[in-house]
Amino acid sequence: MSKVAVIGSGFSGLSAACFAARDGHSVTVYEKNGTIGGRCRFYREQGFGFDMGPSWYWMPDVFEKFFAQFGKHPSDYYKLVELDPGFQMFFGANETVKIPARLDELYALFEEIEPGSTEKLKKFLSEGKFKYEVGMQELVYKPAFSWFEFMNYDVIRGVAKSNVFKSVRSYVRGYFKDPRLVALMEFPVLFLGAMPSQIPALYTLMNYAALNLGTWYPMGGMHKIIEGMASLAESLGVEIKTNSEITRISVSDKSASHLLIGNEKIAVDGIIASSDYHHTDRVLLGDQHANYPESYWKKKTFAPSCLIFYVGVNKQINKLIHHNLFFDADLDKHAKEIYENPEWPADPLFYVCCPSKTDPSVAPAGSENLFILIPIATGLEDSSELREEYFQKVITRMEIITADTIREHIVYRKDYCVNDFVNDYHAYGGNAYGLANTLSQTAVWKPSMRNKNVNNLFYTGQLTVPGPGIPPAIISGQIAAEQISKTLNTRIHERTI
Ligand SMILES: Cc1cc2nc3c(=O)[nH]c(=O)nc-3n(C[C@H](O)[C@H](O)[C@H](O)COP(=O)(O)OP(=O)(O)OC[C@H]3O[C@@H](n4cnc5c(N)ncnc54)[C@H](O)[C@@H]3O)c2cc1C
Repeated sequence: MSKVAVIGSGFSGLSAACFAARDGHSVTVYEKNGTIGGRCRFYREQGFGFDMGPSWYWMPDVFEKFFAQFGKHPSDYYKLVELDPGFQMFFGANETVKIPARLDELYALFEEIEPGSTEKLKKFLSEGKFKYEVGMQELVYKPAFSWFEFMNYDVIRGVAKSNVFKSVRSYVRGYFKDPRLVALMEFPVLFLGAMPSQIPALYTLMNYAALNLGTWYPMGGMHKIIEGMASLAESLGVEIKTNSEITRISVSDKSASHLLIGNEKIAVDGIIASSDYHHTDRVLLGDQHANYPESYWKKKTFAPSCLIFYVGVNKQINKLIHHNLFFDADLDKHAKEIYENPEWPADPLFYVCCPSKTDPSVAPAGSENLFILIPIATGLEDSSELREEYFQKVITRMEIITADTIREHIVYRKDYCVNDFVNDYHAYGGNAYGLANTLSQTAVWKPSMRNKNVNNLFYTGQLTVPGPGIPPAIISGQIAAEQISKTLNTRIHERTI
C-alpha cells in the first residue's frame, strides 16, 4: 500500500481522500484547524448553529454522482429538502422577486415582469441545459494538463455552441431588458468571481443549475455534507487528523518524501494538497520546488473575499426566507469596487441566509439564525472599525427593507473577514472563493494540478481545476486522486519490472 497524505479536510481534500482510499492507498488527511470542513466548517454558540461558509446547495447531480461511485447516495448521509421559493431578491422596500422552484411559475413570473419574456427564458434555459451538459460531461472532469484533452469532436462542437467568447453580460442582455431579470441572471456569476462582462457566457450554465435543477438544503446545515463525506472516507479506511498543520514538504530527487508537522517527520509516497495553492507552493514547498513565482499570483484575478456576520436574533423576521439577496444598490458599482478598483464598497449588495426558516435545529425556538455576507475585494484592509461600520450599514438596510426591528433583538454576533481567511486557511489575499472564472483563467490556464518539479505531488481545490464552489471542489478531488494513483501505480510497475 502506498502512503498518500492529503493536506486539508475541505470538500476537495475529503473527496480526494475517498478516491485515493478506494484505489487501495493508505490515506491520512492532515487538517490544521480543530474541526474538519475547511471553508464549510460549522459551529454552535448560544443555541445557534452556524455554517461558516457555503449555504447554496446547487447541482445536486454532482453530489449524487460522487456518492454513487462508492455505492452510496446523499440520502445515506443527510436529508435534502428543496426550497420553494428557491430564493428572493429585494430590489427596494416594496420590490421583491421570489424565484419559484416550479418552471411554470417561473415562466409566469418572467411574463409578469417583462411581457413576452417567457419564450426567451425557455430558449435561454434550453441553451443553459446544453452548456451544463457539455460543461459537466465533457469539460470539468479533466486534469487540464493540455488542450489536447479537449480535442475531440463532441467537446469542440459543444464549446463552439456554448458562447465561450461572448460575455455573460452581453449574452444575458441579448435576452432580457428588465433590470431585475438582468440582475437575476447575472448574480450567480458575480459570486463566481468576476464582472459579468469578463466571464464567458458558457457560465450561464449556472442559471440552468439555479433555475432548473433547484435550490436544496441538507437538514442540519451544509456541514452535513462534510460529515457524510468524512464518514464515507473513514469507512474506506482514511484516517483524519485535526490540529495537524503541515509546515513543510521535503523533496528529494524530484519526489516529495516527507511532510513536516513542526519537528515531526512523516514519510509519504504521494501528496494531494488541498491547502490553498499559493500557500502550498510558496510556503510548504518554497522557491526551489514551487510551480510558480510570487509574481504569478500578483497577476491573477481573484474571486472575492467577504465580510460575514453570524447573527442570532431573538425574534422572527417575517419578510426573510431561507436565501435573500439584497440587490437594492447598484450592482455594477459594487462589482467594480470588487474587481476593477478594489476598495470597500460605498453601498454594497449583500446576501442573507436565514436557515432557521427551514431548519429548527439551527436556532432556539422563536429565534432567527442570520448569515450576512458582503462580497469584497481580496487584500483589503480589515479592521474592527470597518466591520462595525458595515454591520451597522447592513442592519439598517435590512430593517428598512424588511420593515422590521432587528438591531435591538440581536443576542449573538460574530464577524469574519479577510484576516480570518488568512489565519484560518492560509488564504492568499484572504480569498474566500479562489480564482475568478475568467476566460484567461480557464482549464489549462488555471494553476496546474501537477507540480513540474515534484512528480508525486498534486494540487486540488478551488484554486486549480475546475474552479471555485462545492461541486467543482468535489470534482477536483476526484481528478487529483486519479492522477496520484496513476503516478504511484506507474512507480510500483517500474519497481516490479
Ligand atoms: C463564505 C463562503 C461562502 C460560500 N458559498 C458557497 C455556496 O453557497 N455554494 C458553493 O457551492 N460554494 C460556496 N463557497 C465556495 C466553497 O465553499 C469552496 O469553493 C470550497 O469549500 C473549497 O473547498 P476546498 O477543499 O478547495 O478548500 P478549503 O475548504 O479551504 O479546504 C482547504 C483546507 O486546507 C486546510 N489547510 C490549509 N493549510 C494547511 C496546512 N498547512 N496544513 C494542514 N491543513 C491546511 C485548511 O484549514 C482547509 O481546511 C463559499 C465559500 C465561502 C468562503
